[in-house]
This record gives sequence, structure tokens and C-alpha cells, in this order.
Amino acid sequence: MKKTDRLLIGETPKHVDKEVVLKGWVATKRDHGKLTFIDLRDRTGIIQCVGFGKMGELTTESVVELHGLVKARPERMINPNIPTGTVELSVNDYTILNKAEELPIQIDTDGHEMSEEVRLKYRYLDLRRDRMQKVIRMRSQYSNAIRSALLGQEFIEIETPMLIKSTMEGARDFLVPSRFQPGKFYALPQSPQQYKQLLMTAGFEKYFQFAHCLRDEDLRADRGFEHTQVDLEMSFVNRDDVMQTVEDVVKTAVKAVGGKLKADTFPVITYDEAMKKYGADKFDLRTDKEKEENVLAFAWVVNFPFFKKVDQKDAAEKRDGKSGWTFTHNPFSMPIPEHIDWLLEGKNIEQITTTQYDLVCNGFEAGGGSIRAHRPDLLKATYKIMGYSEEETEQSVGHMLEAFSYGTPPHGGIALGLDRLVMLLGGETSLKEAIAFPMTSTGRTAVMDAPSAVSEEQLKELGLQVAPKK
Ligand code: ASP
Repeated sequence: MKKTDRLLIGETPKHVDKEVVLKGWVATKRDHGKLTFIDLRDRTGIIQCVGFGKMGELTTESVVELHGLVKARPERMINPNIPTGTVELSVNDYTILNKAEELPIQIDTDGHEMSEEVRLKYRYLDLRRDRMQKVIRMRSQYSNAIRSALLGQEFIEIETPMLIKSTMEGARDFLVPSRFQPGKFYALPQSPQQYKQLLMTAGFEKYFQFAHCLRDEDLRADRGFEHTQVDLEMSFVNRDDVMQTVEDVVKTAVKAVGGKLKADTFPVITYDEAMKKYGADKFDLRTDKEKEENVLAFAWVVNFPFFKKVDQKDAAEKRDGKSGWTFTHNPFSMPIPEHIDWLLEGKNIEQITTTQYDLVCNGFEAGGGSIRAHRPDLLKATYKIMGYSEEETEQSVGHMLEAFSYGTPPHGGIALGLDRLVMLLGGETSLKEAIAFPMTSTGRTAVMDAPSAVSEEQLKELGLQVAPKK
């Protein structure tokens, strides 16, 4: 095997007076008749290239291979604004690897001036712009820092399935029809909640994954159907153990990508205090100056009510809360120790406090989790309060109740939103900018035009019929 002898543009200042091969995109072209100037771009930078007349044929954004000599620029021609400003490439030969037609969108701006529809239709071009390259690369660094911090604390990474049973997570499920069992459906996971708890039963003690989660929610400007969360679970822990572990990991990862923290210890505030002080359970602790400096102000919120009255306008809540009561955060949570008896007896429902902890950052919810009910009687009691008969509870979470009867350790965990934090770290204001291929605000996929119709044959195989529109 022969490796390509391509040199990366960022390396060119170290190769003065050497013959090199560069490959990349024609960022700009200035045609001066006999001389053609090109700025060539690759993932490491941009370099000015001096070519000959025929190179006038190169169109911008074409992908080319240039052969030439790296020359030191004379003192007065040095461009202090770019890392390769001390050199240029004197081209003696070139190959067009892929000719670019005129681009449908401009990519040498920050993109804010364009409509979202057109940017997402051509997302693969939109992502070439400097701003997007920076955010998406930073996302990778941040994920990497989270992963290393967790691995450093003896967590292990485990994947859980994408095709699962409909779960209760407070939103509508996306359903996937089964071809082998027509009329039956899988659900796409709203989160790996149940599987991560089963991994605690399985004895792994410390689990994490970067989990892709799907919720068929009503679309809002800043919410999509899909999101990524750093999902983790730990055994033999209490609330403070999980919060401390998560706080350490988040601080390490934020610092690893150059993020600034308001406080080195995240303040902890109760739900009641937050409502009194800020009128909401998400709040922004930054001063105006800190807002300008893109500081991240984290805080924990604890002691949420476990249950709330069902909102009759919310389909998922109505389905989950048959008694008129539903969970505020997570049905699998444990109440605080003082309220366990109330849960078991179905008493003082309104006052039962959950072990839920939410992580708030700059006015957004950055994560949430809880200590779980690891005994069957506790989980059953929660479902009973929500109006489930024993059979209905069995049907819904019988597999969890059974697992909890074979030696499940006390456990708890959290899910941290990845997209949101990348958005905040990047100083972006839209969640979409933190995701390579986000959906449009109307729920259409970027670039590929889904949802789309499928063939009669596909429907027949699945035993499905589409009802005519009313
Ligand atoms: N499964 C929960 C969620 O996705 C998080 C957790 O409790 O760990 O919101």
C-alpha cells in the first residue's frame, strides 16, 4: 500500500523550498490573465497559491490537487492574519478532482442572513462555513472530554437498542411497524431509561452512553424530534453522589473546550425556592457582563414534587395519568427517604417529593435525573397513584418489576443534554447550530426530504393502510 503524499495546509510553513502536494477546496480565485491566484482550503487552514493562466478555469469550491513549491513570502507580503501568511504555493501542476457548479448558497458569511430552510436543504454546503466547522468540531472535542472523564471514573460505555417497547417518558413515542408481526409496533426510545436500569440489575454499576433519543413532541422553535444525551447510571449511590460525579465531569469537559464557568461549585436550590425567587425552575444566574463573556452559570434544582395534576390538553399525560395524577419528571424515581411511606400508602400525593435533580445552565435545562425506585413495591405504588390497575402496571412495566425481584442494587443516574450545552459553549442561540443535520422547524429532515410517502408494496408488507385525509 502506498499512502498519499498529501501535505496538510497547516503544515506548509514548515516546508519552505520543498515540492509538495496539497488537496482541498478552491475558497477564492482571482484571475489576473497570466497569473491566477487561488486560496486553497483544507481542514487545517487556507493558503494562497500562485498559479498560471489556465487555472482560470477552476471554479470556486471545486476540489483540486495542487503540485508546487512552497515559497517564503517577501517580508512586505506577509499576511499576519492567517497562520500560513508567511508562505505561498507556487503551483506547477494541478488536477481537478471534482468540479463545483455555482453554489446555491453563500458560504463565506456566518449564514445568519439566510433562511433556515435553504441552509438545511444544502446543509452539506452550509457546514463548510467557518462558524459551522468550529461548532461541529468543538462538539466532538466536548464529547471526547466527557467520554474521557467518565472512563477515568470507571464508567463503561454500553449501547442499548433503538427498537424498544413503548415507554413512559412524558412524550409521544415514534412507532415502527413490525413486518414479521403485522399490527404490532416497536417504539423508538425516548431515552434508554429502562435499559440503563436493567444494566444496574446486570451488575455493571457504572454505565454511560451518548444516546440518541426520539420524542414525537409538538414542534417548538427550539425543540426537535431528536436529541442526543449523555446518559449515565450508577449503583450504590445517593443523590449527592450522582450530583457530585456529574458536576466534576461537566466542569472538566467544559474547561477542556475553553468554556468559562461562573462558579466552581454549582449552587443547589430547591424547587420551591426557585419558583419563589425566579418564578421558574430554569433560571439564568449570569450578570450582564457574564452574558457578554459567554460564561456558563450552572445550578442544581432539587426537591421537585413527584406528582402533578394531569394537563387534559396533553395526550401523553392523559394516557399516563389515569387517576388524574401523573409524574412531573420520571415515574421510575424514588421519593426522598422521608416520603417513602406516603408513596407506599398513596397518601399526601401532592406533597410527595421526588429525588429528582435538574441541572440548569444559563436559563435552560441542561440535564435531569434521579435516584430510582429499585424495589418492586415502590414502582408499583407509583403506578397505583397514577391510576393503573395491577394488570395494567404488569403490562406496562412487568419486566422491570420482575428484574427488581432478582437483586437490583439501589441506583440513580442522569441524562445531560448534549446539543444544548454545545450550543451554549459555542455562543450560539439556536439548538440547530449544534447539530450537523437538524430537522427544520416544520419537522422535515435536512437535505433528504422526509417524511415522504412509501410504496403500496411496503405498506402491504407491513399490513398497513393509510386512511384518506379527512
Ligand atoms: N431518562 C431521563 C430523561 O431522559 C433522564 C434520567 O432520569 O436519567 O429525561
